[in-house]
Amino acid sequence: MDLTVLGCHGPYPPAGGACSGYLIREEGMSLLLDCGNGVLSRLQQYLDFRDLDAVLLSHLHPDHYSDLMIMRYGLVMARNSGWRNDPLKIYAPPEPEAEYERLPYKEVYSVEPIGPDQVLQIGPFAIETGAVVHAVPGVCLRIRSASGTLVYSGDTEYFHGLEMFAAGADLFLCEANFQEMDIVNNLANHTSASQAARVATAAEVKRLLLTHHHPDRDREVSRAEAEKYYPAVEMATEGETYVIGT
Ligand SMILES: [Zn+2]
Repeated sequence: MDLTVLGCHGPYPPAGGACSGYLIREEGMSLLLDCGNGVLSRLQQYLDFRDLDAVLLSHLHPDHYSDLMIMRYGLVMARNSGWRNDPLKIYAPPEPEAEYERLPYKEVYSVEPIGPDQVLQIGPFAIETGAVVHAVPGVCLRIRSASGTLVYSGDTEYFHGLEMFAAGADLFLCEANFQEMDIVNNLANHTSASQAARVATAAEVKRLLLTHHHPDRDREVSRAEAEKYYPAVEMATEGETYVIGT
C-alpha cells in the first residue's frame, strides 16, 4: 500500500502548502483520505482525479473537505464528455447536517454516511472506523490491505482507546496540531506531538508519521517533543510517498 501526502497542514496552509489530503493506492485502486484546500491541485500530479475510486472524509471541517466543492465542476465536465459516467463515492460523517447536505452535486457524487464502529470494504481495502473527540463528529480509520495496515487518526484530541485502535499498525498517521504548551493551556480538539508519540509507543506501531502541522508552530519543536517518546518519529511532508508494509 502506498500513501502519498498531498496536504498535511491545518487549519490553514502555509504559503505553497495544502490542507489535509492523502492518496492511498494498492492494486490499481485509488482512495483519497480527506480533500482539504489545495489537495485537488496536488492530486493531479499523481493521478487524474476523474479516475479516483472513492473518497473517505474523516470529518466535515473545511480543511478536510473543501476541495470537493471544486472537484465537482471537473466531474460534471467529465460526465458530459463521457470520460466518467459513474458517480464518485464519498464516505462522510453525516454531521454537521448542513455541511453533509452540501456534498451531493448534480449526481456526480454518491454520498454515503459513516460513523464509528463500522466496517467497509473498498476494493482491496478493509476499513474499520473508530470514534474520535473533536469539535464535530468524525472518525479515525484503520485501513488494512494484503500488504499492511495504515491507521489514520483524523482530527481528534487524545482519548483513552486510541492506543488500542492504532495497535500494531505498520504506519500510524497521527495528527499533531498541538505542542506541549497547547495542552498546558488546555486547548481542546487536537493532539500534541508528544501525545501522539506516547500513543505510538504504547500501540507498538512500526512507524509514526505526524501530520496536520500547524503553520504557526515550529515543526522542529513538535519533532523534538515527539522524539522523547518515539525516537524514530517522521514528519509528514507534502509530495512524499510512504510505502506501508510489504
Ligand atoms: Zn477538524
